[in-house]
Amino acid sequence: MNCPYCGGQEARVIDSRGLDEVVRRRRKCLTCGARFTTYERIQPHEIFVIKKDGRREEFSRDKLSLGIRKACEKRPLPIGAVDKLMDNIEAELYKAGKSEVASSYIGDLVMEGLKKLDHIAYIRFASVYREFADIGALKQEVDSLAVRKQLASAESEQSSYRHPLLRR
Ligand SMILES: [Zn+2]
Repeated sequence: MNCPYCGGQEARVIDSRGLDEVVRRRRKCLTCGARFTTYERIQPHEIFVIKKDGRREEFSRDKLSLGIRKACEKRPLPIGAVDKLMDNIEAELYKAGKSEVASSYIGDLVMEGLKKLDHIAYIRFASVYREFADIGALKQEVDSLAVRKQLASAESEQSSYRHPLLRR
């Protein structure tokens, strides 16, 4: 860590503070005595994904978010929704503190998130990721969502229902 004033290579840390994923350090140059601040990004530990066939692969946020984006293509999602979902998934993975996770676990996290976000995106992702055993299982999933959606819209119709005499 070179001093920005004199280029000196030795500096003493006089204060250190963690801000989420960044550590802010106040340093004092041992050559000229100047004080300066550095910010260091904490490198989260690496996570390996264990695929169904047993292969290990380094977890890649880019790769996963590409898959999610594909599923969400042309869906009316709020801006930043996919990024937020990715953040949540990543936080969940790092929080668990494991160095290896099953790909199916990550898939479940994504599907859980997409289910709340957009049913079409959910079905698209699920059909690729979970590889539904047969088309029947997929149909069952679609049906259960469709039924839930109907129930939800029936409820909202009920709540907005007004007796004809009360309508203005
Ligand atoms: Zn210096």
